[in-house]
Amino acid sequence: MTYEWAVIGAGPAGIAAVGKLLDQKISAKKILWIDPAFKVGDFGTSWRNVHSNTKAGLFLDFLKDCQAFNYAQVQEKFELGRLNPEETCYLRYMAEPLQWVTDHLKKTVEIRQDKVQGLKISQRGWEIKLTQGTERAAQVILAIGAEPKNLAYPTPLIPMQDAMDHERITQHFSPEDTIAVFGASHSAILIIKSLIEHKAKRIINFYRGPLRYAVYMDNWILFDDTGLKGKTAEWARQNIDGILPSNLERVYSNQANIDLYLPQCQKAIYAVGFERRHLAIEGFEHIEYVQECGIIAPGLFGFGIAFPEAKYNPFNVLEHRVGLWKFMDYLNRMLPVWMKYTL
Ligand SMILES: Cc1cc2nc3c(=O)[nH]c(=O)nc-3n(C[C@H](O)[C@H](O)[C@H](O)COP(=O)(O)OP(=O)(O)OC[C@H]3O[C@@H](n4cnc5c(N)ncnc54)[C@H](O)[C@@H]3O)c2cc1C
Repeated sequence: MTYEWAVIGAGPAGIAAVGKLLDQKISAKKILWIDPAFKVGDFGTSWRNVHSNTKAGLFLDFLKDCQAFNYAQVQEKFELGRLNPEETCYLRYMAEPLQWVTDHLKKTVEIRQDKVQGLKISQRGWEIKLTQGTERAAQVILAIGAEPKNLAYPTPLIPMQDAMDHERITQHFSPEDTIAVFGASHSAILIIKSLIEHKAKRIINFYRGPLRYAVYMDNWILFDDTGLKGKTAEWARQNIDGILPSNLERVYSNQANIDLYLPQCQKAIYAVGFERRHLAIEGFEHIEYVQECGIIAPGLFGFGIAFPEAKYNPFNVLEHRVGLWKFMDYLNRMLPVWMKYTL
């Protein structure tokens, strides 16, 4: 059989896509949802103990925006609704209701617990190759997520998934270690803060530019996607742009400094961004998408952190919009377009 829609990935983006297809009255039996685990993607597994860079209220907006989620009927169960909506929170508070929504949607649409190996166009539809068998869908949404980038230096690495976890990071260094942290984004600052709180002996932060802070204007946010926010911004102003803690050194990340300082480090953490997971599409070397509307090919659309929307801010600076509420807002605008762009 050919499904009307397949959604690949069950992180927050895949959850939003399935929910909004149902809200558009696509028959549940005509929607196929594929993921190897259905555990809310990286958001629900790797990043649970990370402090959010968005307010809890935006997570609630995400959950309440989709009728098919049925969140209103169960909201009392979750701590998220009892947090201050104006404050940031641990991502686990959002991962819990998202897992409930996932389990609820899984009972509604058709699912395959598997990893997609590749896609190809055939007979005006998409053939989806799984590790076990093949499925077909007229239209496909790819919500496959992204992984932390690494740099190819020989220093032993602390993986980002552990570096971002305030408890797990301690398993990776001893009291005598000097630790290199590359980057100056929200993630890098959280890691440095955590290492300082754990009294790491010496931290060397390799940075490429000044810190960037989000600025709240009347109805928009300058550096919304790249700027430091909330408690992380506060901490960075006091400790990085204020008085540097005695165990923290900051060096510009050029070759001379890397040659000089990196050999002094026993561990390295690369908080230098994320790259889209690979998925083979027959006949194409790379996946390219139209960044303003997510179109990869007729009937094939990219969504979520792997394919963020590029949008100009009021100063005409192009930003790539990543965040749960931004995904939902984008989907509300794009789904009517995607529904018409068929093979
Ligand atoms: C450290 C960190 C902190 C963040 N903090 C916030 C925050 O505070 N607020 C906020 O709004 N956003 C935040 N984000 C951004 C964003 O919300 C998350 O990155 C979110 O996890 C992105 O959701 P996703 O569904 O696009 O990808 P993911 O969560 O990565 O999910 C992708 C899913 O696709 C599956 N998949 C991949 N390949 C295949 C395949 N071939 N076949 C089948 N399934 C496949 C994966 O197994 C996974 O389940 C943060 C991101 C990071 C990295």
